[in-house]
Amino acid sequence: MVAEKEKENHQASEKNDVLKSTQTVIHLALDKLGYPEEVYELLKEPVRMLTVKIPVRMDDGKVKVFTGYRAQHNDAVGPTKGGIRFHPNVTEKEVKALSIWMSLKCGIVDLPYGGGKGGIICDPRDMSFRELERLSRGYVRAISQIVGPSKDIPAPDVFTNSQIMAWMMDEYSRIDEYNSPGFITGKPLVLGGSHGRETATAKGVTICIREAAKKKGIKLEGARVVVQGFGNAGSFLAKFMHDAGAKIIGISDAYGGLHDEEGLDIDYLLDRRDSFGTVTKLFNNTITNQELLELDCDILVPAAIENQITEHNAHNIRASIVVEAANGPTTLDATKILTERDILLVPDVLASSGGVTVSYFEWVQNNQGYYWTEEEVEEKLEKILVNSFNNVYETSQSRRVDMRLAAYMVGVRKMAEASRFRGWI
Ligand code: GLU
Repeated sequence: MVAEKEKENHQASEKNDVLKSTQTVIHLALDKLGYPEEVYELLKEPVRMLTVKIPVRMDDGKVKVFTGYRAQHNDAVGPTKGGIRFHPNVTEKEVKALSIWMSLKCGIVDLPYGGGKGGIICDPRDMSFRELERLSRGYVRAISQIVGPSKDIPAPDVFTNSQIMAWMMDEYSRIDEYNSPGFITGKPLVLGGSHGRETATAKGVTICIREAAKKKGIKLEGARVVVQGFGNAGSFLAKFMHDAGAKIIGISDAYGGLHDEEGLDIDYLLDRRDSFGTVTKLFNNTITNQELLELDCDILVPAAIENQITEHNAHNIRASIVVEAANGPTTLDATKILTERDILLVPDVLASSGGVTVSYFEWVQNNQGYYWTEEEVEEKLEKILVNSFNNVYETSQSRRVDMRLAAYMVGVRKMAEASRFRGWI
């Protein structure tokens, strides 16, 4: 009985292993595109992975040593690019998978980058402002040799923000002995940040929802939307969908969810959320995150963490469209079930690519020293994401594959070609 249970647990953790899942789909995509096995051998893991120890003097005078990672998946197309997350659940495997997803995103929206990702095992909710500053600076010192404006360009991710980017940029500029705004994106506007970067991920998701809704014949006006997660992506997204006339009937954070068939007061919730996206603690009548995912709605947006829609609940999802604003919220088994049930799934590597797209705009503006207006940024983002959505959708239709596999096929091609032209494979 115990052995049986252990086997089940092992199988479940294998299935939810985000690195394994992404490798499976990359392999399938390369096969479909007719690439030989050595291309998969090159792309299945990052080309470079650095683990660092960061000693930080805490406010109580004691030193705490943190572990951090930086993964660079593939730099054939150009420098690697991707965020840094501060989270207690960061693992080496997760950072590797996240760097691969960044490569795919850059391929899908056709940026001159490969993918990278960083993470530090820590809980910023329990740290002071100054401790966070020391940790951010220590991390940059530890990874400084492998990053830089033409090597690897970090950005924000889960629980990191423009203030953290500012400290990191300042630390790198000291090491480099130049002002180096192009070292990192997602900076405050006054330090060379771009208009529209903070809302870019949510804008991109909104564009994908609009395009997906057209394909499904659903009107955004009055559409019933559920958003899981109220962080950077989820909260702005709820606002944009609300402004587009949709009814946000459910939202959640790490502690639970809120549900109202009449539509939630999004402006009030935005006002009350803290900087980590927590708001439900202020209410009594909460539902669980699992209940939230299974609410009857038109559009479901998982915008929180990995492995939320699995083979256990995919049959109970009642949305017509699922748009992944988070990285990796749906397992491969669940992708299959949703596709069989004719639910249109817009995968993470497409839906959440608005963030890195505007990061690219920020880097271009830093390199040229000439800055664009918010309208210019929005217009460029709109064009890129509409094209990318349709490219993936058409690939999925013409090759008769689900949207995730189609997105991987589009995303992996440029990287494989660039590696071939360089003579690596
Ligand atoms: N962390 C974000 C992502 O996962 C943005 C990365 C970037 O802007 O480089 O897409």
